[in-house]
Amino acid sequence: MKYRVLLYYHYVTIEDPVEFADEHLQFCKDLGLKGRILVANEGINGTVSGDYEQTEKYIEYMNNHPLFKGMPFKIDEADTHAFKKMHCRPRPELVNLSLEDDINPHEITGDYLSPEEWMEAIQDENTVVLDVRNDYEYDVGHFRGAIKPEVSTFRDTPEWVRQNKDLFEGKRVLTYCTGGIRCEKFSGWLKREGIGENVGQLHGGIATYAKDENTKGQLWDGQMYVFDERLTVPINQVDPTVIGVDHYDGTPCERYVNCANPECNAQILCSEENQHNHLGACSMKCAEHPRNRYITVHNIPQEEVEERLEAMRNSDFAKTEMIGPRA
Ligand SMILES: [Zn+2]
Repeated sequence: MKYRVLLYYHYVTIEDPVEFADEHLQFCKDLGLKGRILVANEGINGTVSGDYEQTEKYIEYMNNHPLFKGMPFKIDEADTHAFKKMHCRPRPELVNLSLEDDINPHEITGDYLSPEEWMEAIQDENTVVLDVRNDYEYDVGHFRGAIKPEVSTFRDTPEWVRQNKDLFEGKRVLTYCTGGIRCEKFSGWLKREGIGENVGQLHGGIATYAKDENTKGQLWDGQMYVFDERLTVPINQVDPTVIGVDHYDGTPCERYVNCANPECNAQILCSEENQHNHLGACSMKCAEHPRNRYITVHNIPQEEVEERLEAMRNSDFAKTEMIGPRA
């Protein structure tokens, strides 16, 4: 494994996010890194990939930077880059929670639980475990028994919690996410709202939990969704299971693809065979889309396209609703 993928965040005041993003992008490009970095007034959040030397230089630079001293990096080994390009963009928020009255995690946040403490805590009957990632992330893997809020975007989660307050009454509420960044704010919000008896968060997120020598990713079912070209990574090293299901036939599946309709782009789990039979589309509407890219990329003859569309129209699949672009 020649390459590494770095995942990191830090809540710290960045005075001029636009200027910072500009300079930081150039710095990353000069190093030869690829990835996606968000910069806001409230801090930085990034995933970058590069070879050992490039990533080592980046870590060293950040560790010596007055704003990011001590920022932890989660490091994955990889055999290639996990991104095609290098982006570094200014944003109003690091995570899109859009609270009227924002949370500063340095002022209020849930108790930090180490992987070992987490593993013990989630087995306690008086604990409710809340997954604060997106629904499609939960669907391919999550902590055993975790609650999935019925929302399509993170910023709807506070309202969902308010409407389902009774789930948390008198309980210890524990939240987790991929790298820990969402929980810093969300657990703070839960505390401020007075949800549950006590609020905790998985420190360093699932990414840290997976690498812990003592927990070895136990009590995690399925894979973890990641926002790069790998799409999913394994977590549980002791008793791994598959919980994702094929979009078309419901059989166990961990292969994510994008819907062939460029205006939909929804991520769906499916086998290569099922993807082909459905022209790579999440729904009839997407299969029939004039710019269906599965048809062009695979050079499928018009006759076969017609045949497949006809078969889809005559099956239950015709009733499947379009998933649509991610909010
Ligand atoms: Zn679609």
